[in-house]
Amino acid sequence: MVDRDPVREYLQVVATVREFVEEQMQLGFAELKEPEPAQREEQSPFPDFDMSRLQSEAMACKRCELHPTRNTVVFGVGDENADLMFVGEAPGADEDRQGEPFVGRAGQLLTKIIEAMGFTRDGVYIANVIKCRPPGNRNPKPIEIETCEPFLLKQVELIQPKVICALGSFAAQALLHTDEKISRLRGRFHDYHGSKLMPTYHPAFLLRNPHSKREVWEDMKKVMAELGVSRAAEAEQ
Ligand code: SF4
Repeated sequence: MVDRDPVREYLQVVATVREFVEEQMQLGFAELKEPEPAQREEQSPFPDFDMSRLQSEAMACKRCELHPTRNTVVFGVGDENADLMFVGEAPGADEDRQGEPFVGRAGQLLTKIIEAMGFTRDGVYIANVIKCRPPGNRNPKPIEIETCEPFLLKQVELIQPKVICALGSFAAQALLHTDEKISRLRGRFHDYHGSKLMPTYHPAFLLRNPHSKREVWEDMKKVMAELGVSRAAEAEQ
């Protein structure tokens, strides 16, 4: 007898319906409207979960095709009562080995940015849209984002950060359900389930394009102002 997993079945139904509606839209048959935030929260497959139970659920998750190739699930780290949350794309090789988001050179740069803002890495919360490393660092597939997103939504619901900083094009587009470029999304706040979301460039992009650090610092100054934090230090320009 095959074991049933109601949560997995639920997520598969949601993904199938979404794909069907998008197909219909492309054919000009229907208009797809994003559900209101309240509707999405009602649909959470983890309604009564606390963070610890949510993490256990994620650590054992086999809901999408990324699970066989991961070393570990990279759930998220930091202060569960943080006012500020950073969200990146997906774990890379270092993160997949260590089980922590944003380690390695890009992670070190993110830590510098956090400290320049007057916070500590432990005092904010850091997570990714996707919890398992896509093989060869390929881009996550839409079905993988759709399947994994309820974990992030529940993290946001539990933490209730005042500000979320989406790091990089992929994270910003996935969270905001848009294909607009990061260069057009960054620099202003967007609504994300009751939190203010500021998209900015990914630290890995900054390592390749150091001249963009100034724009990231401009974005971070807006975040600091929103949080009522006075400027602690001048970020590396
Ligand atoms: S990426 Fe997300 S949905 Fe897929 S197996 Fe990992 S935790 Fe589960």
